[in-house]
Amino acid sequence: MADYEILKKKITVITGPMGSGKSRLFKEIYKVAKKYARQKVLTFSSVHDKTCPPKTVHSRDNNSEYLPIDHDVKSLSDVIKHVQDYLDPINLKLSHIEAEYIATGVKSYEVDMIQKSLERKKNIVVLVDEVHFLDKDVTYTQIREYCRQILDLANQGPQFIFFGLDLTWERLPWKTTSLLMGIAKVIDKRTAICRFCHKSGCHYTKCIDPESLNGSYVKNPHDTEEINARKDIFFPACDKCLVDPNKIEPKPIEDEDYDELILHEELMERFNHI
Ligand SMILES: [Zn+2]
Repeated sequence: MADYEILKKKITVITGPMGSGKSRLFKEIYKVAKKYARQKVLTFSSVHDKTCPPKTVHSRDNNSEYLPIDHDVKSLSDVIKHVQDYLDPINLKLSHIEAEYIATGVKSYEVDMIQKSLERKKNIVVLVDEVHFLDKDVTYTQIREYCRQILDLANQGPQFIFFGLDLTWERLPWKTTSLLMGIAKVIDKRTAICRFCHKSGCHYTKCIDPESLNGSYVKNPHDTEEINARKDIFFPACDKCLVDPNKIEPKPIEDEDYDELILHEELMERFNHI
């Protein structure tokens, strides 16, 4: 379960293989921020995620519901623009108050309260899902500039929590996730249950049918247009099953066992973090 502490870290990256509960955590953090901490939340996902309907986030655990989100985006620059658009009118009001104070040297109690209230309004929570798909055709230099802009925005009040894969199925680091991890204050590297042997604590995603990708993915590891819709060939895997050519059929998990396995994985993660 997400806790309030994660809402105080300014920039957080929650990463790990497929099936490591990232989207479930996205929904939990959304609930904590909105319902319990009563903060304004801006939510984003990638336009490239074809595994759920547009403008939704969906986790693959049992009985999961789609969470409507605010914006489907292609780039971190879109996220930055939406956050800036939210902050601009507040900053404008604050600068008027400041200009008046400089001109008159007087700030009434009421104006002081308004100023504090406006400052609090800047403390929004920004949740961005599937960040590995963002900016896949953009240079490292440009993404680094986006990272710098995010650091500047975080200094003004917003808290950013990014969710995404760390590695491709070929165990290549995803560009955007990697760079965001560079500016994060907290990185939560989650693990999954191996779908081939049901071992917990797994870090990788296995592709059981690379030929069906028509080579497009091999040519460009960041070109994921095609593989997005192929959740049937990607599964979390342990170190052994990842490289074992005989492990090409996921081992079925009965519905009644699934929740128990997820709970076990959660407990293992807690244990690993102590
Ligand atoms: Zn395994």
